[in-house]
Amino acid sequence: MTYETSTLGYDYDALEPHIDAQTMQIHHDKHHAAYTKKLNAAVEKHPELFEKKAEELIADLDAIPENIRTAVRNNGGGHVNHAFFWPLLKKDVAAKGPAVEKIKGRFGSLEEFKETFAQAAATRFGSGWAWLVLDDGKLEIMSTPNQDNPLSEGKVPLLALDMWEHSWYLKWKFDKASYIKAFWNVVNWEQVNEHYKAATGE
Ligand code: MN
Repeated sequence: MTYETSTLGYDYDALEPHIDAQTMQIHHDKHHAAYTKKLNAAVEKHPELFEKKAEELIADLDAIPENIRTAVRNNGGGHVNHAFFWPLLKKDVAAKGPAVEKIKGRFGSLEEFKETFAQAAATRFGSGWAWLVLDDGKLEIMSTPNQDNPLSEGKVPLLALDMWEHSWYLKWKFDKASYIKAFWNVVNWEQVNEHYKAATGE
């Protein structure tokens, strides 16, 4: 069994005007698909690894044979990160539920959380991702370079924002701040709650 690029689950224009259809089409059909293809090409060299989920591969990179470890880290990360990202995007979802209540308790308010998350996203130098994670059961904001995923550090991702230029440059050009601001209009808080419940049982 090879790895497959997950479907978006919605139309390319479903997030307009916050994230444009052309960006979504290229991002999913070209970028995500390329990560998946390159992950498969790497794992072909050690096909017994196909028995593992891609999340399991990147959660224990030390267990990956050295000759494909970097390829699995980069392309397995790209494959997993994008599959995680698409369902986190949906318009007009109310910010409520158990994860949102925990966020308010941890960061003071939803607004303060958004500010801190936006700061982490904006200051990620080069390409990478901003994350809300559970770290030993505690909510934390972090960013990672390249396609690194918090799973590789033993943390559980709840929310993610792709900060690679391919995510925003077509629409926003140099205006990265507006992309981050627009993101708050398309956060699928129901999906964040699902991740929180799966991780905590709450
Ligand atoms: Mn991307």
